[in-house]
Amino acid sequence: MSQQVQGVVAVGKGDAVRLETIVVPDPGPGEAVVKVRACGVCHTDLHYREGGINDEFPFLLGHEAAGVVESVGEGVTDVAPGDFVILNWRAVCGTCRACRRGRSWYCFHTHNARQRMTLLDGTELTPALGIGAFAEKTLVAAGQ
Ligand SMILES: [Zn+2]
Ligand SMILES: [Zn+2]
Repeated sequence: MSQQVQGVVAVGKGDAVRLETIVVPDPGPGEAVVKVRACGVCHTDLHYREGGINDEFPFLLGHEAAGVVESVGEGVTDVAPGDFVILNWRAVCGTCRACRRGRSWYCFHTHNARQRMTLLDGTELTPALGIGAFAEKTLVAAGQ
């Protein structure tokens, strides 16, 4: 069952951000839901709001976070509920050509959650840098 939490959303270019109720799906295969304990405020979040990253509004802002794993989806073995974690916006795959050469900073297949968090009306949110942690809980790829 999905759950509803509060999150900070940038709805349009340059508009004031809003506290919105968002829907966080249960984690699917390879995903995890994290209870956010803290999240940094970064200039990149402002860039998102200003439309300086891309036009995929609405954005769920926040990407420099730490928290506690609440639940994990099928096949997730690296983290478990109760683990304290930091969220990594560039979780590398470990198996692509760049990763196998030890050059993971060039990874071709960085991980993000496959499911999308949404507003109450079903509008899909774009999580900032694939994280979206200005929220009580967020859905991420377990590798993140
Ligand atoms: Zn940042
Ligand atoms: Zn890779």
